[in-house]
Amino acid sequence: MESVDCVVIGAGVVGLAVARALALAGREVLVIEAAEGIGTGTSSRNSEVIHAGIYYPAGSLMARHCVAGRRALYAYCQERGIAHRNCGKLIVATSAEEDGKLEGIKARAEANGVEGMKVLTAAEAQAMEAELFCTSALLSPTTGIIDSHAYMLALQGDIENAGGMLVFHSPVEAARIVPDGIELDIGGAEPMSLKAKLVVNSAGLNAPDLARHFKGFPAEKAPPAYYAKGNYFTLAGRSPFSRLIYPVPVPGGLGVHLTIDMGGQAKFGPDVEWVERPEYEVDPRRGESFYAAVRRYWPGLKDGTLQPGYAGVRPKIVPKGAPGQDFVVQGPETHGVPGLVNLFGIESPGLTASLSLGEHVVELVRAA
Ligand SMILES: Cc1cc2nc3c(=O)[nH]c(=O)nc-3n(C[C@H](O)[C@H](O)[C@H](O)COP(=O)(O)OP(=O)(O)OC[C@H]3O[C@@H](n4cnc5c(N)ncnc54)[C@H](O)[C@@H]3O)c2cc1C
Repeated sequence: MESVDCVVIGAGVVGLAVARALALAGREVLVIEAAEGIGTGTSSRNSEVIHAGIYYPAGSLMARHCVAGRRALYAYCQERGIAHRNCGKLIVATSAEEDGKLEGIKARAEANGVEGMKVLTAAEAQAMEAELFCTSALLSPTTGIIDSHAYMLALQGDIENAGGMLVFHSPVEAARIVPDGIELDIGGAEPMSLKAKLVVNSAGLNAPDLARHFKGFPAEKAPPAYYAKGNYFTLAGRSPFSRLIYPVPVPGGLGVHLTIDMGGQAKFGPDVEWVERPEYEVDPRRGESFYAAVRRYWPGLKDGTLQPGYAGVRPKIVPKGAPGQDFVVQGPETHGVPGLVNLFGIESPGLTASLSLGEHVVELVRAA
């Protein structure tokens, strides 16, 4: 059986960032991906927002990796010429009750180390965005947008330049923990088996199920998997805003917000629809409830201008109604299997956090 030092399962943005960090740390790395190319899963079905790190509980992995990952990501984009725009975001209050919440959001962001947050009057916010209605707003100047595919291509380039390899059409179908590593059975057109000293399970939505089926892995350490689909509706015509616009969050969600991609396309969403298994069809009827929500901060939204866009699925590890989840980066210190790292529940802000998560895995493995 062939042997390799490290295998990363999954070529999404997180798997790629982990593989890059391992390769730059001098490890031999093979990325094994079931699909035909990089980033075909959740990594190409998100908002492409570089998040500031505002809402996450202080001290959580989400807070820490979002802020560190965001700083690293802007620097990386600049260094590598990856299209991105530090456009900023406005969190808009539309009632006296919401006005009272902005200071609290600002304080939470500052506790996470987010820079430059500023409460604005309605007039100040409207001077920045003429079509906006609000009673006050909170400016997050470090929020931005990125061409996530260009980012993933740059990560792939770094992996290959450092001597790493990627293989596609190669689903990991079974695994066994053996005394000197982990054996993997890989299916696809050219099935094969190989042994690795280190395996990083970065299979996104599939990661809990995959870990549970590793022979010799304590199955109770793999969390259950739940799926929360997020549907987007795109706006016909030009974006009326140059910044991202978010309502004040409601319990359980960020509300129907507006983001813009690098091509200037404005989209609203994602909403939250719990589903039994990942599926990506957008039901046009879900758009009906978007109009009233958006008109609270953009009264100029015209009937019939929202079109079904696309959907992504959040890899949840807690069920509907449970308090929010954090990223889980699980190494031998938790599950007792040497040479295995599992990444569970890497939902938003996973894209923003990816470079920092890569460093985290390298540290975890070094310490093991
Ligand atoms: C609706 C939505 C909006 C979001 N918006 C943002 C945002 O604006 N900003 C932000 O920072 N984050 C955002 N996120 C989060 C971000 O998209 C994810 O955290 C990130 O893409 C996760 O990357 P990943 O590599 O873990 O998973 P994925 O991209 O899903 O990659 C996992 C890969 O593993 C492969 N795989 C699975 N099983 C196997 C197997 N057995 N063998 C081999 N390969 C396998 C899959 O084919 C896939 O390519 C959003 C997420 C969602 C759902």
